Amino acid sequence: MKIIDITHGFYPDMPSYEAKWYPKFAIKPVMTPETDPAPTRRTFTRLELFAHNATHVDAPKHFFEDRESLDRLPLDIFIGRACIADLSYKKPFEPITADDIEKAVRDIWEPGSRLLIRTDYLLHNWGRPDFWDRPPYLTPSVADWVIENKGVLIGLDCLTEKPGDVESPVHLKLLGEGIPILEYITHLHLAESKVSCLFALPTKVEGVEASPVRAVLLENVMEAAF
Ligand SMILES: [Zn+2]
Repeated sequence: MKIIDITHGFYPDMPSYEAKWYPKFAIKPVMTPETDPAPTRRTFTRLELFAHNATHVDAPKHFFEDRESLDRLPLDIFIGRACIADLSYKKPFEPITADDIEKAVRDIWEPGSRLLIRTDYLLHNWGRPDFWDRPPYLTPSVADWVIENKGVLIGLDCLTEKPGDVESPVHLKLLGEGIPILEYITHLHLAESKVSCLFALPTKVEGVEASPVRAVLLENVMEAAF
């Protein structure tokens, strides 16, 4: 079995979406070896996480206040068969359509799979000041494709919505159908196989709309495990 880490992790002073209300990630020392009142020289750290900073998953509650929070979704959504759509040929600001997905995964798709979209945009562009202004993005037709083909989760390394689109039609369609969105994954180019097992469990927090996730692909386990 090979484990591929597709998580875009947290780190001090990491860039985050440029909006006044958008919190930044921070690591706050609570106790250091120097301040430990006991002679044990312990370290305790507080993590100031915003649920949408790094690799994270959105639940229906993100857009529909009365719908499922993340802790109410079945865990089998987050563990299981995943198909990678290799769209690494996509240029900045290029739309992704249902047709692109169909061509990329038709031969490997099975209903009940998770769709992971690879553009390598995050890999090559993270840290640019215009990162959020120029990504390839999903058109609503991709949401329709996932719904029609009975996908249970969609993950992506570009952006879910067209930059500047305040209507968020892709979130509305997917979350409206109860399909969580795994955002800011990366390193899908390390996958050797187009089909593997995604393992992307969110933290267990009651009533929240999103959570950071440690997302990995497990290769060469499909026959044994599923
Ligand atoms: Zn989000």
